[in-house]
Amino acid sequence: MAGGIFAAGCIGDAAQPRRRHIVASISVVADAVRMVGGERVEVHTLVGPGGDPHQYLLQPRDLEILSAADMVFIIGLGLEESMRQVLAEPNLSGRTVAVSGNIDRAELLPATSGGGAFDPHVWFDVRLWVTAIQTVADSLAKLDSASADFFLSNAASYQNQLLQLDEWMVARAREISEARRVLITAHRGFDYLGRRMGLETVGVLGTGTTAGVDPDEIDRVAAVVVARDIPFVFAETSLTREDVEAVRGRVGAQGGSVEIAGPLYSDATGNPETVEETYIGMMGYDVNAIVAALAESPILSP
Ligand SMILES: [Zn+2]
Repeated sequence: MAGGIFAAGCIGDAAQPRRRHIVASISVVADAVRMVGGERVEVHTLVGPGGDPHQYLLQPRDLEILSAADMVFIIGLGLEESMRQVLAEPNLSGRTVAVSGNIDRAELLPATSGGGAFDPHVWFDVRLWVTAIQTVADSLAKLDSASADFFLSNAASYQNQLLQLDEWMVARAREISEARRVLITAHRGFDYLGRRMGLETVGVLGTGTTAGVDPDEIDRVAAVVVARDIPFVFAETSLTREDVEAVRGRVGAQGGSVEIAGPLYSDATGNPETVEETYIGMMGYDVNAIVAALAESPILSP
């Protein structure tokens, strides 16, 4: 009889495992944790839709949430430079995981500005993001070993979806002619996407945004637009339109013309309850917008 009571207690506990409190630095990372953790995690995002993680300053409320977190996931590679000091504190450093940590360093691109040596926007190469998903799954499995199988199997099926996304992106890139393969954005957040889709990338700002724009860069980008006859420059949801507007003005002054497209999602996903709220939705939106702007209209047969 006693055994029966004991077993019932165990079943009760197993049926309702404690939801782990996870903090994600940016919404792209939060989506990864939700895809892997499902209903067994509760995720709080520090820098939400429209936010710029390069410049985000932690608020007192964030510090409270961080101190109560079971685990904190960040991109790493200097993206969260402004949070570095807080995350390095002894009570947090042991609970903080950089999802870029297991990506082969040979696959990383260099930073052009910002805190680190490497470009931190690794989510724009879906194959690298597949590795990041594994890091999330392995870390959650360590945190909550009773749910390890659940996390690992969620990760495996999500990784399959991601590989299909990657294939689709590479196929879509073929719609853009050689001459139009230049992606100009407000900051150099898209170098990994450019490498995968065979697009040359130009940013008004570098891979970091904290230094602000150098007026010479506006001239340099405008010169590329005019010389290559690029039809569109892209604004981004997490940055001001000012810099791309300045490029358009400078192109106009040189007798050329360029339109502003987007905004693209770069360092943040879309608003809640939209398709672009998820990583897959955001990537699909960006690729569609880029291909629509850069692919020439098909020549109609007579
Ligand atoms: Zn960025």
